Amino acid sequence: MTVRTRFAPSPTGVLHLGSVRTALFCWLYAKHCGGEYVLRIEDTDLERSTPENVDAILDGMAWLGIESDEKPVFQTKRFDRYSDVVDEWLNDGKAYQCFCTKEELDELRAGQMERGEKTRYDGRCRDRTAPREGVSPVVRFKNPLDGNIEVQDQVRGIVVFSNTELDDLIIMRSDGTPTYNFTVIIDDVDMGITHVIRGDDHLNNTPKQMNMLSALGATPPVYAHLPMILGPDGAKLSKRHGAVDIRDYREQGFLPEAMLNYLVRLGWSHGDQEVFSIGEMIQYFDIADVNQSASSFNPEKLAWLNQQHIINSPAGKLGDALRPYLELAGANIEEGPDPADVADVFRERAETLSEMAKSALYCYVDFDEIDATAAKRNLRPVVLEPLEAARNALMGLEVWDKQSIDETIHRVAESFEIKLGKLGQPIRVAVTGGSVSPPIDATVWLVGKERVIKRLDHALGFVRMRAESS
Ligand code: GLU
Repeated sequence: MTVRTRFAPSPTGVLHLGSVRTALFCWLYAKHCGGEYVLRIEDTDLERSTPENVDAILDGMAWLGIESDEKPVFQTKRFDRYSDVVDEWLNDGKAYQCFCTKEELDELRAGQMERGEKTRYDGRCRDRTAPREGVSPVVRFKNPLDGNIEVQDQVRGIVVFSNTELDDLIIMRSDGTPTYNFTVIIDDVDMGITHVIRGDDHLNNTPKQMNMLSALGATPPVYAHLPMILGPDGAKLSKRHGAVDIRDYREQGFLPEAMLNYLVRLGWSHGDQEVFSIGEMIQYFDIADVNQSASSFNPEKLAWLNQQHIINSPAGKLGDALRPYLELAGANIEEGPDPADVADVFRERAETLSEMAKSALYCYVDFDEIDATAAKRNLRPVVLEPLEAARNALMGLEVWDKQSIDETIHRVAESFEIKLGKLGQPIRVAVTGGSVSPPIDATVWLVGKERVIKRLDHALGFVRMRAESS
Protein backbone atom coordinates (compact mmCIF):
# COMPACT_ATOMS: atom_id res chain seq x y z
CA MET A 1 0.00 0.00 0.00
CA THR A 2 1.30 3.46 -0.89
CA VAL A 3 0.68 5.86 1.96
CA ARG A 4 -1.18 8.94 0.72
CA THR A 5 -1.85 11.88 3.00
CA ARG A 6 -3.50 15.22 2.38
CA PHE A 7 -3.44 18.64 3.91
CA ALA A 8 -6.87 20.21 3.49
CA PRO A 9 -6.92 23.84 4.58
CA SER A 10 -9.95 26.09 4.17
CA PRO A 11 -8.84 29.43 2.68
CA THR A 12 -11.00 31.39 5.07
CA GLY A 13 -8.15 33.04 6.96
CA VAL A 14 -4.39 33.32 7.20
CA LEU A 15 -2.16 30.24 7.14
CA HIS A 16 -1.98 29.59 10.87
CA LEU A 17 1.01 27.97 12.59
CA GLY A 18 -1.27 25.15 13.77
CA SER A 19 -2.24 24.38 10.18
CA VAL A 20 1.38 24.43 9.14
CA ARG A 21 2.15 21.86 11.82
CA THR A 22 -0.68 19.68 10.47
CA ALA A 23 0.67 20.03 6.93
CA LEU A 24 4.15 19.19 8.17
CA PHE A 25 3.03 16.00 9.91
CA CYS A 26 1.06 14.93 6.83
CA TRP A 27 4.02 15.58 4.58
CA LEU A 28 6.64 14.03 6.88
CA TYR A 29 4.61 10.91 7.38
CA ALA A 30 4.08 10.45 3.64
CA LYS A 31 7.78 11.02 2.93
CA HIS A 32 8.84 8.79 5.82
CA CYS A 33 6.78 5.97 4.30
CA GLY A 34 7.91 6.65 0.74
CA GLY A 35 4.37 7.75 0.00
CA GLU A 36 2.64 10.79 -1.45
CA TYR A 37 1.30 14.01 -0.04
CA VAL A 38 -1.38 16.13 -1.69
CA LEU A 39 -2.72 19.61 -1.00
CA ARG A 40 -6.48 20.07 -1.13
CA ILE A 41 -8.01 23.52 -0.90
CA GLU A 42 -11.38 23.30 0.84
CA ASP A 43 -12.91 26.40 -0.65
CA THR A 44 -16.59 25.46 -0.60
CA ASP A 45 -17.43 28.27 1.81
CA LEU A 46 -17.84 30.74 -1.00
CA GLU A 47 -18.40 33.70 1.25
CA ARG A 48 -15.38 33.32 3.47
CA SER A 49 -12.88 31.82 1.01
CA THR A 50 -10.75 34.37 -0.81
CA PRO A 51 -8.12 34.17 -3.58
CA GLU A 52 -5.71 36.04 -1.27
CA ASN A 53 -6.03 33.33 1.34
CA VAL A 54 -5.49 30.66 -1.31
CA ASP A 55 -2.32 32.46 -2.42
CA ALA A 56 -1.16 32.72 1.18
CA ILE A 57 -1.48 28.94 1.50
CA LEU A 58 0.28 28.23 -1.80
CA ASP A 59 3.07 30.74 -1.12
CA GLY A 60 3.49 29.60 2.45
CA MET A 61 3.75 25.96 1.45
CA ALA A 62 6.21 26.76 -1.34
CA TRP A 63 8.37 28.78 1.04
CA LEU A 64 8.35 25.97 3.58
CA GLY A 65 9.20 23.43 0.90
CA ILE A 66 6.12 21.32 1.66
CA GLU A 67 5.28 20.59 -1.93
CA SER A 68 2.21 18.71 -3.08
CA ASP A 69 3.11 15.62 -5.10
CA GLU A 70 0.16 16.30 -7.38
CA LYS A 71 -1.58 19.41 -8.57
CA PRO A 72 -3.58 20.80 -5.64
CA VAL A 73 -7.24 19.82 -5.64
CA PHE A 74 -9.80 22.62 -5.33
CA GLN A 75 -13.16 21.55 -4.00
CA THR A 76 -15.02 24.25 -5.91
CA LYS A 77 -13.93 22.46 -9.10
CA ARG A 78 -15.67 19.30 -7.95
CA PHE A 79 -19.25 20.46 -7.37
CA ASP A 80 -20.56 18.20 -10.16
CA ARG A 81 -19.04 15.18 -8.53
CA TYR A 82 -20.63 16.02 -5.16
CA SER A 83 -24.03 16.57 -6.81
CA ASP A 84 -23.75 13.19 -8.52
CA VAL A 85 -23.23 11.45 -5.21
CA VAL A 86 -26.13 13.34 -3.65
CA ASP A 87 -28.37 12.18 -6.51
CA GLU A 88 -27.15 8.62 -6.15
CA TRP A 89 -27.79 8.61 -2.43
CA LEU A 90 -31.24 10.12 -2.88
CA ASN A 91 -32.02 7.35 -5.38
CA ASP A 92 -30.65 4.63 -3.12
CA GLY A 93 -32.46 5.96 -0.06
CA LYS A 94 -29.17 6.77 1.69
CA ALA A 95 -30.13 10.42 1.85
CA TYR A 96 -33.36 12.36 1.80
CA GLN A 97 -34.70 15.81 1.18
CA CYS A 98 -35.63 17.74 4.26
CA PHE A 99 -38.27 20.45 3.96
CA CYS A 100 -38.21 21.62 7.55
CA THR A 101 -38.43 25.37 7.90
CA LYS A 102 -36.22 27.39 10.14
CA GLU A 103 -39.17 27.97 12.49
CA GLU A 104 -39.79 24.25 12.77
CA LEU A 105 -36.16 23.52 13.50
CA ASP A 106 -36.03 26.32 16.08
CA GLU A 107 -39.08 24.87 17.79
CA LEU A 108 -37.56 21.38 17.79
CA ARG A 109 -34.38 22.70 19.32
CA ALA A 110 -36.20 24.75 21.95
CA GLY A 111 -38.21 21.70 23.03
CA GLN A 112 -35.09 19.56 23.31
CA MET A 113 -33.34 22.20 25.32
CA GLU A 114 -36.26 22.53 27.64
CA ARG A 115 -36.22 18.80 28.27
CA GLY A 116 -32.48 18.92 28.82
CA GLU A 117 -31.82 16.74 25.76
CA LYS A 118 -28.97 17.05 23.29
CA THR A 119 -30.11 19.24 20.41
CA ARG A 120 -30.26 17.25 17.19
CA TYR A 121 -32.40 16.81 14.15
CA ASP A 122 -35.04 14.18 14.82
CA GLY A 123 -35.30 12.78 11.29
CA ARG A 124 -38.92 13.82 10.80
CA CYS A 125 -38.46 14.22 7.02
CA ARG A 126 -36.97 10.75 6.61
CA ASP A 127 -40.25 9.28 5.50
CA ARG A 128 -41.80 12.30 3.87
CA THR A 129 -42.88 11.52 0.35
CA ALA A 130 -44.29 14.79 -0.91
CA PRO A 131 -42.32 17.99 -1.29
CA ARG A 132 -43.56 21.09 0.42
CA GLU A 133 -44.65 24.12 -1.55
CA GLY A 134 -42.39 27.13 -1.29
CA VAL A 135 -39.61 25.41 0.68
CA SER A 136 -36.34 24.61 -1.07
CA PRO A 137 -35.09 21.49 0.65
CA VAL A 138 -31.71 20.59 2.06
CA VAL A 139 -30.41 17.05 1.65
CA ARG A 140 -29.65 15.01 4.75
CA PHE A 141 -27.65 11.82 5.12
CA LYS A 142 -29.49 8.95 6.80
CA ASN A 143 -27.17 8.30 9.67
CA PRO A 144 -27.53 4.81 11.21
CA LEU A 145 -29.94 4.99 14.15
CA ASP A 146 -28.07 2.69 16.47
CA GLY A 147 -24.75 0.96 16.96
CA ASN A 148 -21.34 2.38 17.77
CA ILE A 149 -18.59 3.88 15.70
CA GLU A 150 -15.10 3.07 16.80
CA VAL A 151 -12.34 5.44 15.72
CA GLN A 152 -8.95 3.78 16.04
CA ASP A 153 -6.95 6.90 16.24
CA GLN A 154 -3.15 6.78 15.90
CA VAL A 155 -2.76 9.52 18.47
CA ARG A 156 -5.80 9.25 20.69
CA GLY A 157 -6.20 5.49 20.76
CA ILE A 158 -9.69 4.01 20.44
CA VAL A 159 -12.50 6.55 20.67
CA VAL A 160 -16.06 5.24 20.63
CA PHE A 161 -19.09 7.24 19.50
CA SER A 162 -22.70 6.10 19.65
CA ASN A 163 -24.91 6.66 16.63
CA THR A 164 -27.66 7.71 18.99
CA GLU A 165 -25.55 10.81 19.66
CA LEU A 166 -25.41 11.72 15.98
CA ASP A 167 -28.13 13.01 13.72
CA ASP A 168 -28.89 13.13 10.01
CA LEU A 169 -26.44 15.75 8.92
CA ILE A 170 -27.04 18.10 6.04
CA ILE A 171 -24.89 17.15 3.07
CA MET A 172 -26.29 19.71 0.65
CA ARG A 173 -27.67 23.11 1.53
CA SER A 174 -30.85 24.48 -0.02
CA ASP A 175 -28.71 26.57 -2.41
CA GLY A 176 -27.19 23.37 -3.78
CA THR A 177 -23.76 23.78 -2.15
CA PRO A 178 -22.30 20.70 -0.46
CA THR A 179 -21.19 20.73 3.18
CA TYR A 180 -17.83 20.09 4.74
CA ASN A 181 -18.14 16.54 6.14
CA PHE A 182 -19.62 15.28 2.90
CA THR A 183 -17.05 16.79 0.51
CA VAL A 184 -14.23 15.55 2.72
CA ILE A 185 -15.19 11.91 2.48
CA ILE A 186 -15.79 12.00 -1.26
CA ASP A 187 -12.44 13.65 -1.83
CA ASP A 188 -10.59 11.38 0.57
CA VAL A 189 -11.94 8.37 -1.33
CA ASP A 190 -11.41 9.82 -4.81
CA MET A 191 -7.90 10.93 -3.93
CA GLY A 192 -7.02 7.54 -2.49
CA ILE A 193 -6.13 9.00 0.91
CA THR A 194 -4.88 6.28 3.26
CA HIS A 195 -4.12 8.44 6.31
CA VAL A 196 -6.09 11.42 7.52
CA ILE A 197 -3.91 13.53 9.80
CA ARG A 198 -5.61 16.68 11.10
CA GLY A 199 -6.33 18.78 14.16
CA ASP A 200 -8.29 17.16 16.95
CA ASP A 201 -11.02 19.78 16.55
CA HIS A 202 -12.16 17.37 13.82
CA LEU A 203 -12.35 14.27 16.00
CA ASN A 204 -16.10 14.74 16.51
CA ASN A 205 -16.62 14.84 12.76
CA THR A 206 -14.92 11.51 12.28
CA PRO A 207 -17.85 9.19 13.21
CA LYS A 208 -20.11 11.11 10.82
CA GLN A 209 -17.53 10.79 8.10
CA MET A 210 -17.03 7.10 8.80
CA ASN A 211 -20.77 6.46 8.47
CA MET A 212 -20.80 8.23 5.13
CA LEU A 213 -17.72 6.31 4.02
CA SER A 214 -19.64 3.08 4.69
CA ALA A 215 -22.52 4.44 2.63
CA LEU A 216 -20.02 4.96 -0.19
CA GLY A 217 -18.81 1.40 0.29
CA ALA A 218 -15.32 2.66 1.16
CA THR A 219 -12.90 1.55 3.84
CA PRO A 220 -12.11 4.41 6.22
CA PRO A 221 -8.56 5.76 6.20
CA VAL A 222 -6.29 5.57 9.20
CA TYR A 223 -6.97 8.58 11.41
CA ALA A 224 -4.58 10.64 13.49
CA HIS A 225 -5.93 13.66 15.33
CA LEU A 226 -3.28 16.08 16.49
CA PRO A 227 -3.46 17.83 19.84
CA MET A 228 -3.82 21.58 19.88
CA ILE A 229 -1.05 24.10 20.17
CA LEU A 230 -1.57 26.34 23.18
CA GLY A 231 -0.41 29.81 24.05
CA PRO A 232 1.56 30.45 27.26
CA ASP A 233 -1.73 31.01 29.14
CA GLY A 234 -3.05 27.56 28.23
CA ALA A 235 -5.64 28.83 25.74
CA LYS A 236 -5.60 27.74 22.11
CA LEU A 237 -2.80 29.60 20.29
CA SER A 238 -4.25 32.69 18.66
CA LYS A 239 -3.40 36.22 17.61
CA ARG A 240 -3.72 37.31 21.20
CA HIS A 241 -0.48 35.45 21.91
CA GLY A 242 1.47 37.10 19.09
CA ALA A 243 2.01 36.27 15.45
CA VAL A 244 0.25 33.12 14.23
CA ASP A 245 0.38 33.87 10.51
CA ILE A 246 3.28 32.01 8.89
CA ARG A 247 3.93 35.08 6.71
CA ASP A 248 4.84 37.12 9.77
CA TYR A 249 7.62 34.68 10.60
CA ARG A 250 8.89 34.78 7.06
CA GLU A 251 8.92 38.57 7.21
CA GLN A 252 10.80 38.54 10.49
CA GLY A 253 13.51 36.43 8.92
CA PHE A 254 12.93 32.94 10.21
CA LEU A 255 14.29 30.17 8.04
CA PRO A 256 11.69 27.73 6.74
CA GLU A 257 13.67 24.78 8.07
CA ALA A 258 13.78 26.39 11.53
CA MET A 259 10.00 26.87 11.46
CA LEU A 260 9.56 23.22 10.53
CA ASN A 261 12.04 22.11 13.16
CA TYR A 262 10.19 24.13 15.77
CA LEU A 263 6.77 22.86 14.74
CA VAL A 264 7.80 19.21 14.47
CA ARG A 265 8.66 19.24 18.16
CA LEU A 266 5.17 20.38 19.13
CA GLY A 267 3.76 16.98 19.93
CA TRP A 268 6.58 14.82 18.66
CA SER A 269 10.08 14.01 19.86
CA HIS A 270 13.03 11.80 19.04
CA GLY A 271 15.01 11.16 22.19
CA ASP A 272 16.22 14.50 23.45
CA GLN A 273 17.33 15.79 20.07
CA GLU A 274 16.23 19.38 19.44
CA VAL A 275 17.87 20.40 16.17
CA PHE A 276 16.73 18.42 13.13
CA SER A 277 17.52 18.78 9.47
CA ILE A 278 14.62 18.15 7.09
CA GLY A 279 16.22 14.82 6.17
CA GLU A 280 16.34 13.77 9.81
CA MET A 281 12.73 14.77 10.37
CA ILE A 282 11.68 12.59 7.44
CA GLN A 283 13.85 9.74 8.62
CA TYR A 284 12.64 9.71 12.23
CA PHE A 285 9.06 10.96 12.07
CA ASP A 286 6.30 8.49 12.75
CA ILE A 287 2.69 9.42 13.36
CA ALA A 288 2.45 6.70 15.99
CA ASP A 289 4.97 8.62 18.11
CA VAL A 290 2.86 11.78 18.31
CA ASN A 291 1.97 12.78 21.82
CA GLN A 292 -1.62 13.01 23.04
CA SER A 293 -1.22 16.09 25.12
CA ALA A 294 -1.35 19.63 23.84
CA SER A 295 1.94 21.48 23.54
CA SER A 296 2.61 25.12 24.10
CA PHE A 297 4.19 27.67 21.88
CA ASN A 298 7.52 29.04 23.01
CA PRO A 299 8.86 31.99 20.98
CA GLU A 300 12.28 31.91 22.70
CA LYS A 301 12.82 28.35 21.62
CA LEU A 302 11.81 29.21 18.08
CA ALA A 303 14.35 32.06 18.05
CA TRP A 304 17.04 29.73 19.40
CA LEU A 305 16.29 27.12 16.76
CA ASN A 306 16.39 29.74 14.05
CA GLN A 307 19.84 30.70 15.20
CA GLN A 308 20.94 27.06 15.19
CA HIS A 309 19.75 26.66 11.60
CA ILE A 310 21.40 29.91 10.59
CA ILE A 311 24.65 28.62 12.06
CA ASN A 312 24.32 25.25 10.32
CA SER A 313 23.24 26.47 6.89
CA PRO A 314 25.69 26.35 3.98
CA ALA A 315 26.83 29.91 3.18
CA GLY A 316 25.43 29.92 -0.36
CA LYS A 317 21.99 28.85 0.75
CA LEU A 318 21.99 31.27 3.66
CA GLY A 319 23.12 34.07 1.34
CA ASP A 320 20.21 33.37 -1.01
CA ALA A 321 17.85 33.48 1.93
CA LEU A 322 19.43 36.70 3.22
CA ARG A 323 19.32 38.59 -0.08
CA PRO A 324 15.65 39.70 0.03
CA TYR A 325 16.07 40.94 3.60
CA LEU A 326 19.10 42.98 2.61
CA GLU A 327 17.15 44.47 -0.28
CA LEU A 328 14.25 45.23 2.00
CA ALA A 329 16.61 46.97 4.42
CA GLY A 330 17.75 49.19 1.55
CA ALA A 331 20.82 47.44 0.16
CA ASN A 332 21.64 47.30 -3.52
CA ILE A 333 23.32 43.91 -3.71
CA GLU A 334 25.31 44.85 -6.79
CA GLU A 335 27.03 47.58 -4.82
CA GLY A 336 28.38 45.40 -2.07
CA PRO A 337 29.65 41.97 -1.14
CA ASP A 338 28.17 38.63 -2.08
CA PRO A 339 25.34 37.94 0.41
CA ALA A 340 26.80 34.47 0.92
CA ASP A 341 29.97 36.07 2.33
CA VAL A 342 27.93 38.40 4.52
CA ALA A 343 25.84 35.50 5.79
CA ASP A 344 28.95 33.48 6.54
CA VAL A 345 30.54 36.29 8.55
CA PHE A 346 27.38 37.34 10.38
CA ARG A 347 25.83 33.93 11.01
CA GLU A 348 26.91 33.68 14.65
CA ARG A 349 25.49 37.05 15.50
CA ALA A 350 21.83 37.10 14.53
CA GLU A 351 18.66 35.32 15.55
CA THR A 352 16.82 36.23 12.37
CA LEU A 353 17.70 37.14 8.81
CA SER A 354 16.10 40.56 9.07
CA GLU A 355 18.23 41.29 12.12
CA MET A 356 21.27 40.08 10.17
CA ALA A 357 20.38 42.26 7.19
CA LYS A 358 19.99 45.34 9.37
CA SER A 359 23.29 44.82 11.11
CA ALA A 360 25.12 44.17 7.83
CA LEU A 361 23.63 47.10 5.99
CA TYR A 362 26.84 49.14 6.25
CA CYS A 363 28.46 46.67 3.85
CA TYR A 364 26.20 48.06 1.12
CA VAL A 365 25.07 51.52 2.14
CA ASP A 366 27.03 54.43 3.60
CA PHE A 367 25.82 55.38 7.02
CA ASP A 368 24.85 58.96 7.74
CA GLU A 369 26.88 59.52 10.84
CA ILE A 370 29.24 57.65 13.11
CA ASP A 371 27.60 56.78 16.41
CA ALA A 372 28.46 59.72 18.67
CA THR A 373 29.43 57.72 21.74
CA ALA A 374 31.55 55.29 19.74
CA ALA A 375 33.28 58.18 17.98
CA LYS A 376 33.97 60.04 21.18
CA ARG A 377 35.43 56.99 22.85
CA ASN A 378 37.42 55.51 19.96
CA LEU A 379 38.31 58.22 17.48
CA ARG A 380 40.61 60.18 19.77
CA PRO A 381 43.66 62.22 18.80
CA VAL A 382 46.03 59.44 19.99
CA VAL A 383 44.88 57.15 17.20
CA LEU A 384 45.57 59.66 14.46
CA GLU A 385 48.95 58.27 13.45
CA PRO A 386 48.23 54.54 13.73
CA LEU A 387 44.90 54.99 11.97
CA GLU A 388 46.56 56.93 9.19
CA ALA A 389 49.23 54.25 8.88
CA ALA A 390 46.57 51.55 8.76
CA ARG A 391 44.68 53.44 6.10
CA ASN A 392 47.80 53.71 3.94
CA ALA A 393 48.78 50.09 4.46
CA LEU A 394 45.29 48.89 3.55
CA MET A 395 45.30 51.19 0.55
CA GLY A 396 48.49 49.54 -0.61
CA LEU A 397 47.13 46.01 -0.39
CA GLU A 398 47.06 44.28 -3.71
CA VAL A 399 45.19 41.23 -2.53
CA TRP A 400 42.02 42.08 -0.59
CA ASP A 401 41.40 39.05 1.57
CA LYS A 402 40.89 38.44 5.26
CA GLN A 403 44.38 37.14 5.84
CA SER A 404 46.16 40.08 4.22
CA ILE A 405 43.91 42.50 6.07
CA ASP A 406 44.54 40.74 9.36
CA GLU A 407 48.31 40.76 8.83
CA THR A 408 48.26 44.41 7.85
CA ILE A 409 46.39 45.55 10.94
CA HIS A 410 48.63 43.42 13.17
CA ARG A 411 51.73 44.85 11.59
CA VAL A 412 50.61 48.46 12.02
CA ALA A 413 49.61 47.88 15.65
CA GLU A 414 53.01 46.29 16.35
CA SER A 415 54.89 49.11 14.71
CA PHE A 416 53.20 51.57 17.04
CA GLU A 417 53.59 49.20 19.96
CA ILE A 418 49.89 49.32 20.73
CA LYS A 419 47.51 46.45 21.46
CA LEU A 420 45.56 45.17 18.50
CA GLY A 421 42.27 46.38 19.99
CA LYS A 422 43.59 49.94 20.27
CA LEU A 423 43.77 49.99 16.49
CA GLY A 424 41.07 47.50 15.63
CA GLN A 425 38.31 49.30 17.49
CA PRO A 426 38.92 52.72 15.88
CA ILE A 427 38.99 51.01 12.49
CA ARG A 428 35.72 49.24 13.34
CA VAL A 429 34.04 52.49 14.36
CA ALA A 430 35.31 54.26 11.24
CA VAL A 431 34.26 51.48 8.88
CA THR A 432 30.91 50.46 10.39
CA GLY A 433 29.79 53.62 12.17
CA GLY A 434 29.38 51.74 15.43
CA SER A 435 31.30 49.76 18.01
CA VAL A 436 29.92 46.27 17.36
CA SER A 437 30.76 44.12 14.35
CA PRO A 438 32.19 40.74 13.40
CA PRO A 439 36.00 40.29 13.68
CA ILE A 440 37.76 43.31 12.24
CA ASP A 441 39.52 41.52 9.38
CA ALA A 442 36.24 40.02 8.14
CA THR A 443 34.40 43.31 8.58
CA VAL A 444 36.98 45.29 6.63
CA TRP A 445 37.08 42.60 3.97
CA LEU A 446 33.30 42.64 3.49
CA VAL A 447 32.95 46.40 3.37
CA GLY A 448 35.46 46.46 0.51
CA LYS A 449 38.57 48.47 -0.16
CA GLU A 450 37.01 51.53 -1.74
CA ARG A 451 34.45 52.06 1.00
CA VAL A 452 36.97 51.26 3.74
CA ILE A 453 39.43 53.88 2.51
CA LYS A 454 36.70 56.45 2.05
CA ARG A 455 35.34 55.84 5.55
CA LEU A 456 38.81 55.86 7.12
CA ASP A 457 39.50 59.18 5.44
CA HIS A 458 36.27 60.55 6.81
CA ALA A 459 37.10 59.30 10.31
CA LEU A 460 40.63 60.67 10.05
CA GLY A 461 39.17 64.06 9.22
CA PHE A 462 37.13 63.84 12.39
CA VAL A 463 40.17 62.83 14.46
CA ARG A 464 42.26 65.66 13.03
CA MET A 465 39.54 68.13 13.83
CA ARG A 466 39.49 66.90 17.41
CA ALA A 467 43.28 67.02 17.61
CA GLU A 468 43.29 70.61 16.40
CA SER A 469 40.59 71.76 18.74
CA SER A 470 42.14 70.13 21.81
N1 GLU B 1 -10.75 22.10 5.94
C1 GLU B 1 -10.61 21.64 7.29
C2 GLU B 1 -9.94 22.72 8.11
O1 GLU B 1 -9.33 23.62 7.57
C3 GLU B 1 -9.79 20.39 7.44
C4 GLU B 1 -10.54 19.19 7.02
C5 GLU B 1 -9.83 17.89 7.25
O2 GLU B 1 -8.61 17.87 7.42
O3 GLU B 1 -10.52 16.90 7.19
O4 GLU B 1 -10.04 22.68 9.31
